Amino acid sequence: MSFADLGLSDELLSAVTDAGYTEPTPIQAQAIPSVLMMRDLIGIAQTGTGKTAAFVLPMIDILAHGRSRARMPRSLILEPTRELAAQVAENFEKYGAGTKLSMALLIGGVSMGDQIKALEKGVDVLIATPGRLMDLFGRGNILLTGCSMLVIDEADRMLDMGFIPDIEEICTKLPKQRQTLLFSATMPAPIKRLADKFLENPKTIEV
Ligand code: AMP
Repeated sequence: MSFADLGLSDELLSAVTDAGYTEPTPIQAQAIPSVLMMRDLIGIAQTGTGKTAAFVLPMIDILAHGRSRARMPRSLILEPTRELAAQVAENFEKYGAGTKLSMALLIGGVSMGDQIKALEKGVDVLIATPGRLMDLFGRGNILLTGCSMLVIDEADRMLDMGFIPDIEEICTKLPKQRQTLLFSATMPAPIKRLADKFLENPKTIEV
């Protein structure tokens, strides 16, 4: 299996080559074609399996080739910690360098001012921890009605950190017609229930 078999555009194949990747990891090989076909997905995978590229690469491809709705975020990636969110943002910058897509990193521990400015300018992708996203939403700084793709990453860690009620609330603010991807190293009952509630006919991949 090579990256060229997965349905990614030439632009993204170049990004993969630039990153120095020669072949997709198992989660990438299985997830990327399915995400490009706009299916919901449950990925049971640990960190280190290449799962970030498994959702960031097809997300960039979809956004870069879709019709843009001005000034509204079109994808939301939820991460349990600031560090993970920052890592995903780095990945997004790296793989999306050849596109005009923009993103905002919405995490706690830093001033809201720059985040609000970025949101006012308009971004395509939000990469956020649930707490800061809820704060900004509560202040009226974010509109999520254009977010047709949602990634819930590290769902079991979200559960451990008590973020499930926040995630449920965030889900209700996104359009019903959307693509939802959920990644978790394990699938405890509350995560299964979350997936049953917010994903539609998902493909499940376990690596
Ligand atoms: P992740 O599981 O997303 O945290 O990724 C783990 C590490 O694997 C990161 O440092 C990536 O840059 C790297 N990586 C992701 N995909 C590939 C690939 N196809 N080939 C080699 N390394 C990869």
